[in-house]
Amino acid sequence: METVTRFAPSPTGYIHIGNVRSAIYPFLLAKKNDGKFILRIEDTDRARYVDGATELIEDTLEWLGLKWDEGPIIGGNHGPYFQSERKDIYLKWAQKLIDSGRAYADPTSPEQIDKYRKQCSEDKTPFLYRHYRPSDTPVWKPGLPLRFKSEPTIYKWHDEVMGDMEAGPEVQDDIILIKKDGFPTYNFAHIVDDAEMGVTHVMRGVEYLSSTPNYLAIYEALGLTRPKLVSLPHILAPTGNKKLGKRDGAKSVTEYRDDGVLAEAMLNYLACLGWNDGTEKEIYTLEELIKSFSLDRIQNSGARYDETKLLWLNGQWIRKIVDERGVEALYLRTRTFWPESASTYEDNYRIKVLSIIYDRLKTLSDLSTMTTYFFEDPRIDLDYLAKNKYLKNLSESELEQLLKTSIAKLQRIEEWSEDNLQNALNELLQETSSKPAVLFSLIRISVSFAPFSPALPLTLAVLGKNTSLARLNSVASFI
Ligand code: GLU
Repeated sequence: METVTRFAPSPTGYIHIGNVRSAIYPFLLAKKNDGKFILRIEDTDRARYVDGATELIEDTLEWLGLKWDEGPIIGGNHGPYFQSERKDIYLKWAQKLIDSGRAYADPTSPEQIDKYRKQCSEDKTPFLYRHYRPSDTPVWKPGLPLRFKSEPTIYKWHDEVMGDMEAGPEVQDDIILIKKDGFPTYNFAHIVDDAEMGVTHVMRGVEYLSSTPNYLAIYEALGLTRPKLVSLPHILAPTGNKKLGKRDGAKSVTEYRDDGVLAEAMLNYLACLGWNDGTEKEIYTLEELIKSFSLDRIQNSGARYDETKLLWLNGQWIRKIVDERGVEALYLRTRTFWPESASTYEDNYRIKVLSIIYDRLKTLSDLSTMTTYFFEDPRIDLDYLAKNKYLKNLSESELEQLLKTSIAKLQRIEEWSEDNLQNALNELLQETSSKPAVLFSLIRISVSFAPFSPALPLTLAVLGKNTSLARLNSVASFI
């Protein structure tokens, strides 16, 4: 049987790290088994619906390279892929349950239900609607909620991640199938859709585990074979024992993208958050993930979110791209991340800058702060210079003398290349009997006024002779 998985997000605006992992695993499983990955938009909760959220979901998946085989934009044989456009389908299935006496119109007013609820909380017993099921119910018509008529029993089932499960009647109820507004509930709609779309593996957050007995009852009442159930454990906040939430500093996936995290790194990080292939391997391409993925290595306890690890992986990926595909390949991803002043420079110059700085980048947005001095003269700040730990013991005249000797030496270099610069700097060390840390810090700070820069000969070579000497001269004259 062909493996069919799906990602079924609700368009509520913010794409959380955990939501995206719920897309990655089904994608990997489908691709591993040459199956199909469906994108379905669960937009029946109109109160939580956010305009533009669907596009955000599509964008995010496309960015990560998680191409769906059926779904919005591309269509497929099981559309529509928006639940709000599938009302007729849900009604057809609801009718089956009405006909077999397993669904009924609920005439109870919300106020009455509230009273039952209050009573239960006073009596300290859990509220179950089925205890108040009216003996006489009207014929169902739109405008009335339609409820499932449960026949509570003991359910046993196997969850591919959580193992063998069992639950009794206390968690089974007459859940609402169709709401007053005519839209189906998630509880009903996803069962119908998964069945209609031929989904073989329902992979979703573990928060749905407790409702599973209710779902099993509906599968049974509809005569459906249950799909394999795969509960994905929570992603935990960096500290404490709670689910990762917006407040824990985790940005949305697109915010990470806009901050210069590479799609490859994000995918790699999230796939390995709660799954491993049993080896020590840490860097995976999408193809490698597909090859190694298996359900039985998804861990069944929460995985802790660790942004430092994500950024570390991003650094690894930045280097991997340059090593394997060249600095130009990385350059193509950097367009929006340069400082403003870089816009007047040619691609070639920016590629040179990138080629000497890329191995220090954690995210691409570091470019905007780490490379400004390649594109504009830094503000001369003698205090900053004098406070440097290697320079603070030198007097102003010593600093000035050292700079002037350096300028004279560098001036004489004819071909301003990294090698020639390296040689000149070595000779300068001997001629001035300075320590490398002192001499090189002085020159480095004078041309950059930045906390760090690539190796000095590289930095000077890229800046060029005119710019380097002009900056050194300005500092000398300031002193
Ligand atoms: N629409 C549900 C959500 O966004 C999806 C759960 C599922 O995958 O079935 O949480």
